[in-house]
Order: sequence, then C-alpha cells, then structure tokens
Amino acid sequence: MNQEFLEAIKSDSVSIQTDEPMSLHTSFRIGGNTDCYIEVKNTNALVRVIDACKQYEVPYFVIGMGSNLLVSDNGIRGAVIKLTGDFDEIKKLNDTTVRCGAGATLAAACNFAKNNSMGGLEFAWGIPGSVGGAVYMNAGAYGGEMKNVVATVRYLDEGVVKEISGKALEFSYRHSFFTDKQYIILDAEMELAVKNKNEIFYLMQDTMDKRKKKQPLNRPSAGSVFKRPEGHYAAALIEQCGLKGVSVGDAQVSEKHSGFIVNNGKASAEQVKELIEKVRSVVKEKTGVELECEIKFIG
Ligand SMILES: Cc1cc2nc3c(=O)[nH]c(=O)nc-3n(C[C@H](O)[C@H](O)[C@H](O)COP(=O)(O)OP(=O)(O)OC[C@H]3O[C@@H](n4cnc5c(N)ncnc54)[C@H](O)[C@@H]3O)c2cc1C
Repeated sequence: MNQEFLEAIKSDSVSIQTDEPMSLHTSFRIGGNTDCYIEVKNTNALVRVIDACKQYEVPYFVIGMGSNLLVSDNGIRGAVIKLTGDFDEIKKLNDTTVRCGAGATLAAACNFAKNNSMGGLEFAWGIPGSVGGAVYMNAGAYGGEMKNVVATVRYLDEGVVKEISGKALEFSYRHSFFTDKQYIILDAEMELAVKNKNEIFYLMQDTMDKRKKKQPLNRPSAGSVFKRPEGHYAAALIEQCGLKGVSVGDAQVSEKHSGFIVNNGKASAEQVKELIEKVRSVVKEKTGVELECEIKFIG
C-alpha cells in the first residue's frame, strides 16, 4: 500500500487496517484481503480520505454492512471505506421525520422509529444492512421499500455535499439514482407516520417470524442471490428445476429457501460464482427465464 497515501489520511477520525480480510466484513463470510480498510468517523475526514484517494490514485469502494456483496477471493485492490462515528447517528427531527446516518444499521433505525412511535419502517426489520446500503439498493420486503419512506438524501459528489429529494432518486426494484455511481450517501431523512408503539412492535415481530420460517438465518449468506424475474419467483423456478440443496464445495443452494446460497463453512467466492452460473444456466435451459443477480460482485 502506498505509504504516502496512508500518511495523508492519518487522523483521529480515521482508523486504518492494511491487508484486511473482507470475509470479516461481509455477511457471506467470504472475500480475500483489501489493501486498506478505512473506517471514517465524520464528513470532513471522509472528504480528506476521498481527496487523498484521488491524489494518490487509490481506487475506493464504500461498504455498508456487506450484506449484499460477494467479494473475490483475491480481495479488493485499493481502499474499502466504511462510515462509522457520526454516520451512525439517528435523530428525530419532528413527530414524523427521522434523520439517519448512512452508517446506522437498519435495525437501529427500525428500533428508533418504534421507540418514538413512528410507523412505516417495519418492513425493514430483519434486513441486515445499513441505511446507506438500503438507500443505494432500494431495499424492500413484505410490501415495503425504501422508496416509500425516503424524503431526502445528502451525499458526497467529488468532495461537495449535495442534497436530493426522494422523488428524484429514481427508485425502482433494487435500484436507485446511486446505482453504479461513485457518490457516497451521507444520511437520509425518512418521512414516517405517527403510530402506536405496540402496533409497530407486533408488525416488526410478524416480519421477523416470517423471515425465521422461510430464510436460512443460521448460515452466512447475502440474502436473495437473484432479482425477482418479471412474472416469476426466482426461488420457485430454482426449486422447480431440481436445484434445491445443490452445492459446489461449501456453497449450497439453501434447502430452506432456494433463492439463497449459503456458506456451509469454507465456501470460496469462486465456488459461489460457479454455483450461480450453474443455477442460471439450468433455469434458463429448463424454463427459458434469465436470472439476474441481485448481489454485487466486488474485486
Ligand atoms: C439474511 C439476509 C436477508 C436479506 N433480506 C433482504 C430483504 O428482505 N430485502 C432486501 O432488499 N435485501 C435483503 N438482503 C440484502 C441486503 O441486506 C440489502 O441489499 C441491504 O440493503 C444491503 O445493505 P448493506 O449496508 O449491507 O450494503 P452493502 O452490501 O455493504 O453494499 C451494497 C451496495 O451499496 C453501496 N453502499 C453501501 N453504503 C453506501 C453509502 N453510504 N454510499 C454509497 N453507496 C453505498 C455499496 O457500495 C454496494 O454497491 C438480505 C441479506 C441477508 C444476508
């Protein structure tokens, strides 16, 4: 790793690990080393880190909770940036509006909303991502999606903080204005509704019960591997093609939910990729449906 770059980004608001295994930062528990893993605690420090990345030509990738990623066994060249500190803050602005830092977990945001009698975010309970990752992905479940609650987002564009309204965010199925761009989401204001705390609690519990029944939550995974194809369910197609439980090494199509691939121990990214290709080709051959990946391949 470029020593001058490391010197340039050193500060109390930045913590740096070189040669950091990405398997420690992904829900799949898969991924080789990144040259440099940087936790950044506030916007000023983030701007300095991004400036240094540009100056020293260090490529960078912003990670949330790593719950939608398959990181290569060869790792990630350059820097992986994680937002912490101030970015974990969640603040009530009025009875129905909450501002969540991009680094805050969706779980923390859901709990905060419940404790403040704000309804509308219950659908997100159990999605193991950050607020930044959820906005980027337009995460959704059980009839809800980020699109319905995000009022404004502040983000970093070439060192400049900008604001964009929810309506301008081009939200669609697992897609937003941020998809495939290098902007960094700083925080999001969510517009919720006054709601009885107990009602929110029961809805969250109901959502979690459904997840526990259907999803292999006891094994590392990245959730649904494939997007829902128009007019079909990926899991149903995979099952119909006899692929439930099929494995390549320690990577296996979940016995509980065929849309998930689980890591049974020491699965490599290559094994997961091989399994994905196998599933895609069999489903295409037997049903004619082309499965598109929801998870992101990095490195
Ligand atoms: C068990 C399980 C269940 C799941 N269930 C669901 C579900 O019901 N619905 C659903 O939609 N998803 C689900 N997921 C997938 C995943 O949790 C979501 O996609 C989540 O929104 C990803 O957030 P993250 O913080 O982990 O992002 P990451 O996986 O770290 O990153 C995803 C993308 O977001 C970008 N990103 C993250 N933070 C920022 C930021 N601050 N600025 C700019 N870009 C950023 C990354 O660069 C990357 O491109 C599930 C995953 C698991 C493991």
